[in-house]
Amino acid sequence: MASFEKNGVFKVLKYLVSVILLILTAGTGTAGEINIYSYRQPFLIQPLTDAFTEETGIKVNVAYLRKGMIEKMTAEGKRSPADVVLTVDISRLAAVVDAGLTQPVVNETLNNNIPSIYRDPDNHWFGLTTRARIIYASKDKVADGEVTTYKGLADPKWKGRICTRSGTNAYTVALTSAIIHHHGTEKAEEWLRSVKNNLARKPQGNDRAQVKAIWAGECDISIGNTYYMGKMLKDPEQKAWADSVRIVFPEFENGGTHVNISGIALAKYSPNKENAIKLMEFLSSPDAQKIYALANFEYPIAPNTEPAELVKNWGSFTPDDVNLMDLAKLRSTALKLTEIVDFDG
Ligand code: FE
Repeated sequence: MASFEKNGVFKVLKYLVSVILLILTAGTGTAGEINIYSYRQPFLIQPLTDAFTEETGIKVNVAYLRKGMIEKMTAEGKRSPADVVLTVDISRLAAVVDAGLTQPVVNETLNNNIPSIYRDPDNHWFGLTTRARIIYASKDKVADGEVTTYKGLADPKWKGRICTRSGTNAYTVALTSAIIHHHGTEKAEEWLRSVKNNLARKPQGNDRAQVKAIWAGECDISIGNTYYMGKMLKDPEQKAWADSVRIVFPEFENGGTHVNISGIALAKYSPNKENAIKLMEFLSSPDAQKIYALANFEYPIAPNTEPAELVKNWGSFTPDDVNLMDLAKLRSTALKLTEIVDFDG
């Protein structure tokens, strides 16, 4: 008798829950939704997702993560709500792919919008913006043409004059990987050792902290990503740091300027796959690329799109033409060299 009663109550509860769910989902329409796991910040992603929802009616949910994305998705397994992953740096994209958490997308729009060096040859990740890793040079202490190549940073004339962040930081590792790609492991080790010998202080802080150190007279050149120039110029406290330097686009001796990406990958168990691919196409489209260009001083990736005026003023450069997946494969060698020369020590 008691169990019969329990059963009855259960049925009523179940009915109520389904009614509530119906009411809750009634407003979402037929376009459906999509879930993003993002290491990129809300100020950048929100304008893009707003534009996407406006165009398609698809509701976008974003989980902004600071770390642990791979662990989270691995733990969630097949039940992961993630449709796509947004992050910066080829090493982070490659790590998500290596963890088996993505699936390939073969798509004409993506292939047309994204140059082949900025997408995975196996179609698991796609670049959406680029940033160059450049030299910030003191306007007062470094003359035009004094440094034009990455190799030049190893010249003893810079002894005690270079500032940089940790050799194990993802941005630095990608640059070291590119040095290995262009000059071989042995030369790359020599280069790292020489650059270390030229440092004004132990590697520390982020890219902007190095420019601050130039402004403060601690060093004359530093290595950093392009968009930080824009960020510093827009920050009242940091504008003076930015004003003390100019951007130099160094090149490899047999290549262009080192470029990294922010990008996207389709999650292996994406529950809203069709919508996810729509979002990927949208983010690579000229319209979305314009939003990217204005929001974060990065370079848009699609053909016939231009960077913001301010970014254009920094000058033009020839991006290195290596496929970033080739650099991702050199990551462990780069880290090993960094350790061997005790770059941060
Ligand atoms: Fe950054």
